[in-house]
Amino acid sequence: MGLKGTKMHKVIIVGRGLFGSAATRHLAERSDGIVCVGPNEPKNRQTHTGVFGSHYDEGRMTRVVDPVSEWVVAAKNSIDRYADLEHRSGIKFFTSSGYLGIGDPTSDYNESCAAAGAKVGVAIQKLSSTEIRSKFPFLSVDNNSDGLLETETAGHISPRAMVLAQTKLAEMAGATSVFDQATKIFHTSKGVEIELTSGKTLKSEKVIIATGGFTSACGLSPVDLNLRVFGRTIVLAKIQGSLINELSEMPTIIHCKTGAYILPPIRYPDGNIYLKLGIGTNSDTTFTTLKDLQEWFKGKGSEENRREFSEFIQNLIPSLSICANWHTDTCVVTQTQNGLPIIRYVDEGKIVVVVGGNGKGAKGADEWGKVAADIISS
Ligand SMILES: Cc1cc2nc3c(=O)[nH]c(=O)nc-3n(C[C@H](O)[C@H](O)[C@H](O)COP(=O)(O)OP(=O)(O)OC[C@H]3O[C@@H](n4cnc5c(N)ncnc54)[C@H](O)[C@@H]3O)c2cc1C
Repeated sequence: MGLKGTKMHKVIIVGRGLFGSAATRHLAERSDGIVCVGPNEPKNRQTHTGVFGSHYDEGRMTRVVDPVSEWVVAAKNSIDRYADLEHRSGIKFFTSSGYLGIGDPTSDYNESCAAAGAKVGVAIQKLSSTEIRSKFPFLSVDNNSDGLLETETAGHISPRAMVLAQTKLAEMAGATSVFDQATKIFHTSKGVEIELTSGKTLKSEKVIIATGGFTSACGLSPVDLNLRVFGRTIVLAKIQGSLINELSEMPTIIHCKTGAYILPPIRYPDGNIYLKLGIGTNSDTTFTTLKDLQEWFKGKGSEENRREFSEFIQNLIPSLSICANWHTDTCVVTQTQNGLPIIRYVDEGKIVVVVGGNGKGAKGADEWGKVAADIISS
């Protein structure tokens, strides 16, 4: 949408990903003068010359349980609002497939998740290895394993659909979307100015920076946020034939010993159904420049990860060995020093940042966006 460059807006949100679209909606439903600047997902990654987002996918795990209370509260508050967002936007993004943590004697992950989850009263169930096998017969777990199950409140969201829903609601409340990229953000005597790739300049009383993994590479924050941005390779197996039924009750899974996260079969825009997994590894490459980030998003990720991850998942779900079609995709994780999103003013009171999903920002994104909206409007 076109905007007059001379107009002074109330708040401009830079970045229309999971955090930025949520912050925009919360602000637009409270006030007028709200603008969100950010490009759409590129149709062709190879020819794209701009920034990318970490939400170009159909599956993100969502669940209340987490070892850290802040993540529990953000997820709980967000998940409590999913139904309202879906209803009012008419866009469905949440599938309540449940969540299973597959524990192991060497890991206290399930225990920490259960303890933190109990504080907000989330319904969870502990499972023995026999119960895991009987509930999910496609899983091959050893006798030492234990399970932590969260049902109604857990499952997966489509991050693409969630951004669409937030954007639609924000626009319905009067916000304006500008499909452009910010190149520079700077203070003036009256507020903040944002220069865009198109050559336009927008003016605003205040700004929220929500540019995910591209925040440092684009040099948008006035202070160094000490972010570490690293690449993640994900592996997808095409699910066909008998596997569709066999895996129809599959929950989202975290395998505590390896840290693997696994999404059940989900339909993708190409019409196919894929099961997806990723595992954080020490060899994940750190990126600092725009060029390196762009190359990573255009590439196929790590071939070594493809081999290791597909071997791992075929051990856990042996029936996947009949899958003939495996492929990889890439994404970046934005990690902060303390493992929580950074949501605060980064100047004397005009610019707030909301960045640092730490690889699990999707589930509670609506709450992280709300916190940014609360800070800038107080
Ligand atoms: C492989 C992988 C798996 C994940 N799995 C999960 C999961 O299962 N569950 C979960 O909760 N989380 C998961 N996450 C994390 C989650 O996707 C991120 O935490 C979340 O996307 C962060 O939201 P964000 O808004 O900060 O960043 P993004 O979603 O990346 O959005 C940033 C936006 O800013 C825009 N932008 C960048 N630069 C500019 C600029 N200069 N001008 C304007 N706009 C700009 C981009 O276009 C983008 O749309 C995963 C992440 C990865 C990489």
